[in-house]
Parts: sequence; structure tokens; C-alpha cells
Amino acid sequence: MRLKGLIVLAVFTVLFIACKDDNSAENFEKEIAEKKQEEKIFEFGFDLKKFEFKRDTVRKGDTFGIILERNNIGYPEIFQIAEKAKDTFDIATKLQVGKPYTLLFDKDKVNDSIQKPTTFIYQQNLEDYVVIDFKDSIQAYTRTKPITYVEKTATGFIENNISETLENKGLSQVLAYKMADDIYAWTIDFRRLQPGDRFKVIYTDKYINDTIYAGVHNVKAAYFEHNGDSLYAFQFKTDSIKNIVDYFNEDAKNLRRAFLKMPVKFGRLSSRYNLKRRIAYYGYKVRPHKGTDFAAPIGTPIMATANGTVVESTRRGGNGKYVKIRHNATYSTQYLHMKAQNVKKGQYVKQGDIIGWVGMTGNTGGPHVCYRFWKNGKQVDPFREKLPEAEPISDSLKTKYLEYIAPVKERLDNIFFLETESNNTESTITEDNTTDIQ
Ligand SMILES: [Zn+2]
Repeated sequence: MRLKGLIVLAVFTVLFIACKDDNSAENFEKEIAEKKQEEKIFEFGFDLKKFEFKRDTVRKGDTFGIILERNNIGYPEIFQIAEKAKDTFDIATKLQVGKPYTLLFDKDKVNDSIQKPTTFIYQQNLEDYVVIDFKDSIQAYTRTKPITYVEKTATGFIENNISETLENKGLSQVLAYKMADDIYAWTIDFRRLQPGDRFKVIYTDKYINDTIYAGVHNVKAAYFEHNGDSLYAFQFKTDSIKNIVDYFNEDAKNLRRAFLKMPVKFGRLSSRYNLKRRIAYYGYKVRPHKGTDFAAPIGTPIMATANGTVVESTRRGGNGKYVKIRHNATYSTQYLHMKAQNVKKGQYVKQGDIIGWVGMTGNTGGPHVCYRFWKNGKQVDPFREKLPEAEPISDSLKTKYLEYIAPVKERLDNIFFLETESNNTESTITEDNTTDIQ
């Protein structure tokens, strides 16, 4: 956006000068071309005007040596360069296919019959690059391009889904992931947003060298109106040593729960916890189902729904291959019918860690994970439990938090929805009866 703006500005400036001097169209075009070249002249800390340069990407089979050899540098010299550079950058192992590199050549030696580069610049990613300079003495160093963060705000109305809303407004889908999978993962079911739900966000965009857009960096605060509820979220660091960052509401309640809702990312709730379940196969006798089944294709990763210690990882009877995790004195969870486990007894796992994969071991008619939720030694329905909040804010931090969010909340409250509200249907609160019971 900014770059475009600059070019447009440059074009207008040149156009203005051109008209004034009554120059021909040819000159005008030339001036634009010059202007464009000038804009790109400083890169990697070099004034590229002073060099001839060649840009390329690492191809399959390329090594630092092969690239230099292709550019007329002989092997004794390559070894010497590699040896001197090795503390900064291990040339032999670190070149990745498809990554860009630039070779600089001395301008006054362009007419020599054999042209040799003086500098090799390898871009590890959009920000970081390595310079290996062998013009006179051999030097190697890594640098990071200057990064800027620009704070922005956005609003949106939901008509069908959040992705569509963001797309229509030209906003990044990353905002949807951040809101659905991170900020509101425990408080809003994004597959059941209502027409008329709306949101505001304060977020930062990342730019490299002030011009290259590198995506949404962070969401600082959000506000979501869902089903008539107003949900505020403020990002706050609770532990700067462990770098623990969470989202809390206006009363300092953690928006994250100690438990994930589901042990699979994409899965269909195929059978709920039901103590009165009757099954035809058993002659319609009551066969309670104390688990919650999520149908998903074989091989789908199964996640630990909360932090804890693996107390069982084994295979037994109808359960098939399963894992049981003890989270604390109150809660344990169990995951059945796995294709294979990914953890061992005694291992500590974190929320979201992959502990195994969906399979069909034990008694099961199709691929699914039977998720069992234990509270004080009894199996309960996790969907009916009021699950504990994750890591509440400490009393000492609470005052600091409330002080911090006051101006942020005011800012959020002062962002106005741009759309006309009349286009949106009034949302009503409805009881959620849409459960898939087997
Ligand atoms: Zn089950």
C-alpha cells in the first residue's frame, strides 16, 4: 500500500516537472525509470549504484561453493572464504532451495573478461540475511532488515461468516484465525456466528524496510458482539520471564479455559455423553455412553485438551489404544481408539500437544476418538461442565492490568462501526439445541 503510494507520488512529481519543462513523452518515461531505479538503490547496507549485481535463487544441488564456482571463483579461494565465514554461517548445510541470494560485482571490473563477485548475500527469510564479503579481507555477518509495526483498527459485520466479512473488507484472514483459534476459541463458536454479530479489533501490521507488508503481527485488543453478548479481549503479558501472554476480559478474567473444547481440530461431534443411551445392537437396552465421540478421518492428530501428566498409554480391550492424562487433583481426560499413541506414561504434555492419532482400535464402528472427561474420579459430560479458567491473573497484577486496559478500552469503545446498521438483522438469543445425538 505504502509502496504503491510512493510510486504514485513519484509519478505525479515527475509528471509535474515534465509538464513544466515541456519535455517530450520519451524523456518523461526515462525519468520515471530513473526514479524507480533510485528508489531501490540501498539494500543490505550497500549502495547498489556502486556495484553490478545479480539476483538469483538457490537451486536444487546448489551449495555456496557451487554458486561461487559458477561465478568464476576457484576452489582454494572458496575454502578460504568458507573457513573464515563458518562461525557466522555454516555455508555447507544452510542453503535452502528457493531462497534468494544476491552477488555483487565491482563496477570498474565489469569489462574484465572473467567477472568475479566480491560479495555473496543470502536471504534466510524476509527479514534476516547473511553477508559474506570477500572483496579485500573476508568478512561475514548477519543482519536484520529494519522492521516497523503499524497499529491499525478494523470493524466488521457478520453476514455469513468471518472469512467472508474480512475478505469483503480487504482485511487479512489472519485476523480470523487469531480471533477464532486464539482469542475467542473458548467463548465463541465461530461456526455458529449469527448474522448481525459484529467486531472491532486493534491490531498491528508488520512492515520490512517500511514498505514490504509482512502480515498481521499481533492483535492487541478486540471486541465481539455475539448473540447479544459483548465480549472484550485485551492482550496482557502475565509473565515476562516465561513470556506468557494471554487475553483477558474487562474484569481481568482469562478468556482461555484450562481445557480445549475438543481433542481434534476438525471433527464432527458424533455422539454425546448420554447415560440413557439405547442402542439397537444391544436390543434397545440402556447402554450409557460416558464419553463424547468426535468422528474424524484415520490419522487426524489428537490433542491433549489441557496440560498434565500421561498416566496411561496402553492398549486394553474395547478401549483399543488409548491415553489417559491427569491434569490436577480434580480432572483427568482419556482418549480412546487411537491408531497409535505419541506419548509415553510419565510424560508431561501441554494443552494442544499431539498425543496420538485417530484410529479404529478396540470396539468401534468407525474412525473416531472417544473423549472421556473425569472429575473427582467420575466421568462427566465436559459440555455441561463449567470448565475452570486458565491461569487467573494474580492479585498483584490485577491493578496493573486494569490500569493498562483503561485507555485501550476507551480507544476500542471510540471505534465506530462503519456499516449502516439498518442493513443488519436484529440478532436474537436462541437456545442451542443443535446437537448430534447418535
Ligand atoms: Zn465413545
